Amino acid sequence: MVETATRDVVIVGGGHNGLVCAAYLAAAGLKVTVLERRAVVGGAAVTEEFHPGFRNSVAAYTVSLLNPKVIRDLDLARHGLKVVERGLANFLPLTEGRYLKVGGGKTPEEVAKFSTRDAGRLAAYGERLDLIADVLRDLVLETPPNVTAKGWLAALPELLRSARLGKRIAKLGLPLRRELLDLFVKSAGDYLDGWFDSAPIKAAYGFDGIVGNYASPYSAGSAYVLLHHVFGEVNGKKGAWGHAIGGMGAITQAMSRAASERGVDVRVSSGVREVLVEAGRAVGVVLDSGAAIRARSVVSNLNPKLLYGRLIDPRALNADFRERINGWRCGSGTFRMNVALSELPDFSVLRGTALGEHHTAGIIMAPSLAYMDQAYLDARQHGWSRQPIVEMLIPSTLDDSLAPPGQHVASLFCQHVAPVLPNDASWDAHREEVADLMIDLVNSHAPNFKAAVLGRQIMSPLDLERTFGLIGGDIFHGALSLDQLFSARPMLGYGDYRGPLKGLYMCGSGTHPGGGVTGAPGHNAAREILADFRRGILKRA
Ligand SMILES: Cc1cc2nc3c(=O)[nH]c(=O)nc-3n(C[C@H](O)[C@H](O)[C@H](O)COP(=O)(O)OP(=O)(O)OC[C@H]3O[C@@H](n4cnc5c(N)ncnc54)[C@H](O)[C@@H]3O)c2cc1C
Repeated sequence: MVETATRDVVIVGGGHNGLVCAAYLAAAGLKVTVLERRAVVGGAAVTEEFHPGFRNSVAAYTVSLLNPKVIRDLDLARHGLKVVERGLANFLPLTEGRYLKVGGGKTPEEVAKFSTRDAGRLAAYGERLDLIADVLRDLVLETPPNVTAKGWLAALPELLRSARLGKRIAKLGLPLRRELLDLFVKSAGDYLDGWFDSAPIKAAYGFDGIVGNYASPYSAGSAYVLLHHVFGEVNGKKGAWGHAIGGMGAITQAMSRAASERGVDVRVSSGVREVLVEAGRAVGVVLDSGAAIRARSVVSNLNPKLLYGRLIDPRALNADFRERINGWRCGSGTFRMNVALSELPDFSVLRGTALGEHHTAGIIMAPSLAYMDQAYLDARQHGWSRQPIVEMLIPSTLDDSLAPPGQHVASLFCQHVAPVLPNDASWDAHREEVADLMIDLVNSHAPNFKAAVLGRQIMSPLDLERTFGLIGGDIFHGALSLDQLFSARPMLGYGDYRGPLKGLYMCGSGTHPGGGVTGAPGHNAAREILADFRRGILKRA
């Protein structure tokens, strides 16, 4: 069956970027339909009840990168979004009664417990990183210069864009440009070793370099992943991480309301099985139900490998493109759990189940970069690390809408596990065993933890792929490595949200500026699509 009305735009996937893109397009007067495979929109940013009476963010669990312009333009506060800051940024329980607290104005005195030299260097480190992060912040809402093989007319605007970028970087001065280069190519470990001596502060900062990045903190390129996690802000406070009241689903529900208010037709339980291509142009989609919807343009919110590998007839793409997209590197070393808790964890190094500021923090259970390095090596060999890295967040300490009074929910964000297990082993056979290991790890720091667990939800890399379409459980829709960033995301020549097929655009995290709940790819893709409607490359239905 073909629906008779042709849309201006059909968006495949109702993740947060699909919703943002839809809202901008509809605000400009276009007729937009969003088609989401799951029964709920939001993609990896959703809140669900996982145990009777206990709700939590299922995948993404903490907010910082969400772009302030997107928040403003979509009026997300009016649509119910409220973000609060954590009482403390991070807490690292260590051994022999020691711990490190980061944030809340305490970092220098806390770091001085381990190294006075390191404490004295914190301010300079923060300033330096912030100046570099400002460059990234400036670029987040820009379309990267696209590499083109077409004539000078097509190349000229891209050259101008490159020149503007060059000018902006030149303004940094030579020392900062050197730092920028370091952060793009070095390992997080080498970068942090250059700044600090003591292990705990390097672990606290270095954790960001391995989040969603299946690599050692000493792998080249991990410094960029660290940088990627600091360009955000919470309520105007740069680099801070916070909590959306109601969980991450509150963000995407607010986006969905903003899109619907602008007239977007948002449909759930509407998986797309094929993008229709006629004479080299995308002209609509076929749903899993067999129904076809025609549109002047199709926008994909999916991982590019999923879009081009599974939804498009290979004959519509040339061999070089197919080979390259097939080589798109996906796969985070991430294992995600939610647990319902009867009481707060009682840490051996900081006793008590009464709410303390450390309970509101991102609790990083990994004492050093060397520990993280070993975790990666272990996972490569055995499929998961016997001493894994766990960051635990207990959002119910900031939000009483998630758990019954006096009880709690915790998000466990665990690294490193292999995206695909060695020796043909399946995650289906090992999910529970690895979940037990993660709980044991937390229990080794807080001995009341295991007994306090009332229920749990487990997301192995395979579960993340099945549930959300995140290939290899890749939380970013593709590794954040230099060969897959900026103009090369997802491929040189297609870094401007367009692809090789006319009328087919990309708006997901596999485009610049990459993963995280930012709204930026959706924002930028909408601008490019609107430009094509204005230029007459796309015609209104
Ligand atoms: C475990 C985990 C933890 C994370 N933690 C954080 C965090 O704390 N903070 C943060 O900022 N970021 C975090 N991230 C990253 C962030 O969540 C993602 O990068 C971001 O949500 C991706 O958004 P998106 O809109 O680009 O794509 P997605 O959210 O992946 O949305 C794509 C949508 O397309 C749908 N879809 C797939 N196939 C089809 C089809 N054939 N037809 C129709 N629909 C389809 C999917 O169901 C999905 O809804 C995390 C991610 C994961 C997985």
